[in-house]
Amino acid sequence: MTQITLALSKGRIFDETLPLLAAAGIEPAESPESSRKLIIGTNRADVRLIIVRASDVPTYVQHGAADLGIAGKDVLVEHGGEGLYQPVDLNIARCRMMVATPVGFDYAAAVRRGARLRVATKYVHTARVHFAGKGVHVDLIKLYGSMELAPLVGLADVIVDLVSTGGTLKANNLVAVEEIMPISSRLVVNQAALKLKQAALRPIIDAFRDAVQA
Ligand code: ATP
Ligand code: MG
Repeated sequence: MTQITLALSKGRIFDETLPLLAAAGIEPAESPESSRKLIIGTNRADVRLIIVRASDVPTYVQHGAADLGIAGKDVLVEHGGEGLYQPVDLNIARCRMMVATPVGFDYAAAVRRGARLRVATKYVHTARVHFAGKGVHVDLIKLYGSMELAPLVGLADVIVDLVSTGGTLKANNLVAVEEIMPISSRLVVNQAALKLKQAALRPIIDAFRDAVQA
């Protein structure tokens, strides 16, 4: 029997993936929220789940420690996607990657006069590519969370972060001024596994694709 390992992160991606797993006939044996286990069995003896940080999913799949994974486009763009096949946009965990500034900061004017901007973000690579494309000079400041704080305490002029409702920005007197890209989660597959475990992986990939289209 071919063993299949699927890498998932806890929280919204796990929750929104459950119905897709069900459509593929896969039911986790326990919830990663209540269990401390990092390897979770399923109703299928040939399928197991591993629970990793969202930003680590591409790494596990790239190296073949997982055959499949589910990761946000934000994470995939930042990782680079090397060694990964991305067959299905699952249309879950949707939000937007945005540039945001304090209310009252004239971003358009700063860009026009060629100001050098201090940009705080978890997405350093994505931000670098975005601002280079606009011809804007930036000093990138790598953060691991709570990006909204940076402009409030003088660490940065602008942030690059994910926005869904805008509630967190508003609560911190920030405003989104530019969209970088729309974000949703993708199914990612290890390219070598796709060849070697074709017969086992195909039905799972197809079931996910069908469930998304339904
Ligand atoms: P941690 O919170 O443990 O530091 P994380 O921030 O990467 O990790 P989540 O906040 O659960 O984990 O985000 C996981 C993925 O969900 C992100 O990579 C992104 O694709 C998506 N996501 C993040 N924020 C939102 C949001 N506000 N709305 C919809 N999807 C989101
Ligand atoms: Mg988070």
